[in-house]
Amino acid sequence: MTVSLYCEPARLYEQVHDLVRIFFPGVGVVRWSGGQESAVDIVLCQQRCGSSLHLEGSVEDGAAARGSSRMHDVPPGPHAAGEVLRLTRMFLFELLSACVPQQVHPYGILTGMRPTKLVHRWLDEGMGAAEASGRLQREHAVHPKQAHFLVQVALAEREVLAQASFRDVSVYIGIPFCPSRCSYCSFPAAVVRDYQEQVLPFLDGLLWEMEQVGRALQEQGRRVHCLYVGGGTPTILQPADLERMASLLRRYFLPTVTGEFTVEAGRPDTLDAAKVALLADMGVSRVSVNPQTMHQQTLDAIGRGHTVAQVLEAVRMLRAAGIPALNMDLIVGLPGESPQHCERSLRQVLEAGPENVTIHALARKRGSPMAERHTGCWPPADSLRAMEAAQRLHGLLAEAGYAPYYTYRQKQAVGGLENTGYARPGHICAYNVLMIEERQSMVGMGGAAACKFVDPVTLTLTRMFNPKHPPAYLAALPRLVGAKVDKLRALI
Ligand code: SF4
Repeated sequence: MTVSLYCEPARLYEQVHDLVRIFFPGVGVVRWSGGQESAVDIVLCQQRCGSSLHLEGSVEDGAAARGSSRMHDVPPGPHAAGEVLRLTRMFLFELLSACVPQQVHPYGILTGMRPTKLVHRWLDEGMGAAEASGRLQREHAVHPKQAHFLVQVALAEREVLAQASFRDVSVYIGIPFCPSRCSYCSFPAAVVRDYQEQVLPFLDGLLWEMEQVGRALQEQGRRVHCLYVGGGTPTILQPADLERMASLLRRYFLPTVTGEFTVEAGRPDTLDAAKVALLADMGVSRVSVNPQTMHQQTLDAIGRGHTVAQVLEAVRMLRAAGIPALNMDLIVGLPGESPQHCERSLRQVLEAGPENVTIHALARKRGSPMAERHTGCWPPADSLRAMEAAQRLHGLLAEAGYAPYYTYRQKQAVGGLENTGYARPGHICAYNVLMIEERQSMVGMGGAAACKFVDPVTLTLTRMFNPKHPPAYLAALPRLVGAKVDKLRALI
């Protein structure tokens, strides 16, 4: 089955086809090119004459047809183009909602990955929280509960953003290796089978990159706000190699860190007493241990390769070593898991007392083993179960004193749900906020790491990406490092 979309002018297609996709998940949406067979035909026409905007549209599915038209007045000005696009998207959203009424779309016409960015723009202009929530509902068709949630998250984030200097940078170091591949994951560049052959050449390249970038930061007297070592699974590194990385961190980055220093230890089976002692000695202030679920049957089914007992042992070792903050990730929507399973997992996680809990929605990521086995849209029953689970977890976390502090969306997430980080009072992870809101330059090094250089006036970004696969990373390194250092020198 396909849905065809005809737009006048033709360039409108690129600006609205994402909305059609949320009403017809798992169905191919194609540009109408005349003569093709499709189950649903959608027509959208936009005409501007002076300040008046005329919108007209129809949806026809063979059994029924529905049409609508509307006129708006859009005075000229710097925001006119954005307003025309918003009105056009709202018009199409309302037309499709009337034709496919059984679906709920909590985010309305907001289809981007970072819905809180819009709220921040309004808050920057002096708008109050209640007005921002009302405007999300009126002008973007966001569900009232979701609008309230987005504003709550944005307000929490502003505590971090208020302290983020444009002169500082945050630093990300990516170790793209894992002990095995989880069935839902498309990320790790390599599952480690031969440590010597795969990891060591990559690490030599990474250490060289860290040295060049670290020197450039020192030359400019630029401080590091947050330091984050992620992956993959950074704790897959052997203690001697972690120590090699630590010595560069101590020399170039740690002396100026003003925020937290996080290391991901997503797989608890990669931790042992020696590595935990080293993390504590390096001054790591936050470690992420990610059970995803506390049900052994599910852990086995999704290929995590560790036990529930190993999660609890990792937490015990990290606490005993004096690591001040822990994060634990859970996923809703895992195969075979009901809302009750998720609730039991969260209760066990809460008993471990982490400062942060992150609730992810299972997403079908292209290239993951799970996405290869299951294509198309999520069955409605799976989406409903995941939505109920997410709601219960949100309630439980609130009861336990955790508040949401950052949120983002992913394509193909079950139930259209978001991923949200929760923190106990005083324990917001600044790095996560800075990474989502993109208001401070971020220097990424290592596999699949991204650099984002922020223009402090316009908040526009220049991005640079390191390749994910180690051989491609090593080949690109001299060119990438040169460009990064140039970019750092050009920052204010
Ligand atoms: S441990 Fe994390 S990065 Fe590695 S395969 Fe699993 S989900 Fe992906």
